[in-house]
Order: sequence, then C-alpha cells, then structure tokens
Amino acid sequence: MPLEPFFCVPGLDRADHLRADPAAIAALRASVDALELAWDNGAPAIDEQGRLKWSKVVGEPILFLGLDGDAPRFSALPDGTAPVDARAHFQLLALLDADDAPTFAAALSLANWHRRHGHCSVCGHLTEPNRGGWSRMCPNCGAEHYPRSDPVVIMLAEHDGRLLLGRQPHYPERRYSALAGFLEPGESIEYAVARELKEEAGIDVHDVRYLCSQPWPFPSTLMIGAYATADDVRLTIAHDELDDARWFSREEVVAALANDPAAPFQAPPRSAIARTLLDRWVDGLM
Ligand SMILES: [Zn+2]
Repeated sequence: MPLEPFFCVPGLDRADHLRADPAAIAALRASVDALELAWDNGAPAIDEQGRLKWSKVVGEPILFLGLDGDAPRFSALPDGTAPVDARAHFQLLALLDADDAPTFAAALSLANWHRRHGHCSVCGHLTEPNRGGWSRMCPNCGAEHYPRSDPVVIMLAEHDGRLLLGRQPHYPERRYSALAGFLEPGESIEYAVARELKEEAGIDVHDVRYLCSQPWPFPSTLMIGAYATADDVRLTIAHDELDDARWFSREEVVAALANDPAAPFQAPPRSAIARTLLDRWVDGLM
C-alpha cells in the first residue's frame, strides 16, 4: 500500500527561470515537442487509462506548465464563464493516474485562480496574465498578484491506542475520516490543530506533530497532515460541523483500510491525505 500522499510524486520541471522570459516561452511554444493540455468541462481531460490528454499546440496558450524532460507543456485557460463543478472534478481523482496528479493539480488550481482573479485586489482594474501564467499584472497600479494556496490542517488524534475520526454531513454513507479545518491568520500549524480538535470534538491535545502535506486543487488548498495526543477520551461534538465523531481501535482501522465489509466505517479514498495518515498510523510510522 503506498504511504506517500496522492499528488506527491515528482511532476513536471516547473522551470521557473524561463517564466519571466517571453522570448524563451515563445521559442518553447514553437518547439516540435510542445504539447498543450486538453480540458473537459472545466477540468484537465483524462483518457481511459487515467492519463492526462495532450494535443499539439495551437495559438498561444497562456499557461507554461513546465518541462517533461526537454519537452514543453502548455495549457490554454478553459472558458471562464461556466460555473466550476468542483464535485465533478473531485470525482476525477478516482480515475486519475498518480503520476499525472501533480500536473492535474497545478493546471486546475492555476486555471481556477485566473478565473477568479481578473481584477486587481489593490485598485480594481482588469489584470493581465504574466510569467507564463504564474502571476497577473495590474497595468493601472503596477501590482503583481501571485496564486495562493489556502492551508488546511487535517489531523489524527490518538488516545491510548485509539484514533479519533469524524463524519461531515456531506460524506458518503459510513465514511469516517480525519478532522480538518482552515488555518487562520496568525496561527501556527500546531495551534490550529489543537484549536480545531477543541472546537469540533471538545478535546485537549498535546504533542502535536507535523507529518506530511498534499495539494488539494478544489480549488487551491494545501492539506497539512498532523498528529496529536489527546489528554482525555470524552468528546463534545460540534454538531454544526460534524454528524458524529468516535474513537476507533487499531483493528477497526485496519479492517476499514482493507475494505472489510464488517469494518465499522468506510475509509477515505486513496487520493485523500487522510488515507495516507491512517496507512502510516497502522504501520506504526508516526
Ligand atoms: Zn491595480
């Protein structure tokens, strides 16, 4: 069973040194090896094998995604008028080949960012793509805007060999997963983990440790996986955020990860970092 988070294999060489050089970008675009990402319904298109679809470059695609070896990879911006169907995009992860996941994440997050940031947040003027699509410039006030990732902490709390998992209202039936929440301005990862566990489950924790992270391009989140030790097992569940939260034994978690129909819950899918955290916990790697 893979223990690295989905999206975390090496992707394209992002070749940052080429982005600010319009002549170099134009030469790459004209290269016989250049390919352009295909889009379908606002997301990178995927073939029957789960690989991204590419075609010969036509026109002047704005996004320079990077280099595959020496071969340049570009993308146009998909049509920006239709509302983004994040749920449909999320379902693509069940099909997507892990080797293409980093490129899928970068292209989708970047395209969504361009879609939503057509105006300068300083002066309100229309902005223009810059640096091979990795920033936008305001021609009115000169501000340069960069794409952001929103940090979310996602954590396992353990007490005496059992793990705390919860159910959000929109989860599939029987699904339990790690608790999570947005990191707020002015917070450390450690503080956000402790605060979220207190808010959602009413527990105090100590020994908060960072484990691993994962980009989550719906639309542009960085999931920060952590682990904490709970002081006590008594829960006070915030029912405005969670349907339920429970402690599960190692045997119960092992059964869920093995898709055992007798398991007391259904584990999160392989594409979710929560799955990686559970895999590592049962393997004793935290
Ligand atoms: Zn401006």
